[in-house]
Amino acid sequence: MTFWCVGRNYSEHAKELGNPLPTQPLIFAKSEGTLQKGQELLIPEFVKSFHHELEIVLLLGNDLEFSHWTLGLDFTDRETQNHLKSKGEPWELCKAFKGSSALGPWQKLESADELQSFQFQLFVNEQLRQTGWVRDMIFPPLKLLSYLKKHFPLQAGDAVFTGTPSGVAALKSGDRVKAQSGELTVPWSLR
Ligand code: ZN
Repeated sequence: MTFWCVGRNYSEHAKELGNPLPTQPLIFAKSEGTLQKGQELLIPEFVKSFHHELEIVLLLGNDLEFSHWTLGLDFTDRETQNHLKSKGEPWELCKAFKGSSALGPWQKLESADELQSFQFQLFVNEQLRQTGWVRDMIFPPLKLLSYLKKHFPLQAGDAVFTGTPSGVAALKSGDRVKAQSGELTVPWSLR
């Protein structure tokens, strides 16, 4: 299972990090091995700033169409990312490190069209940090899928992290995190 991730897919988030808006999807990949299981999350000791990025995550079924969705966290070592970006170096160290992903439980998706009405939110210690609407994506889910299919070796069981809205910030030990979209609520705590 590979996680295909999209950077800068919401204009307000691209702006908050001082990035130009992309003219084609900005894709990076992480392995399934990055996933933290369970509701208690660890901040790896080598990470300098452990930023949350709440995202709608879409699972690829056997026909390589989206079959399920959930809420996920694409953890990013922002300080290291800024350093890598300034040198034009690859992002693995800031994005694909051990423990850099978390997923809620998969929810059946009836059709990709229903995603357009999704809103999702992240609370940290009961305070609202991020709100996103799928309809605000620069590259909506089906556009991402056709782009990914054209360029990358997608396999059934892979998942797509569709990008984060604005409001990213660092988490610290002891924080309580709650992701919410419609009926789905996913609580995590940071050890
Ligand atoms: Zn992300």
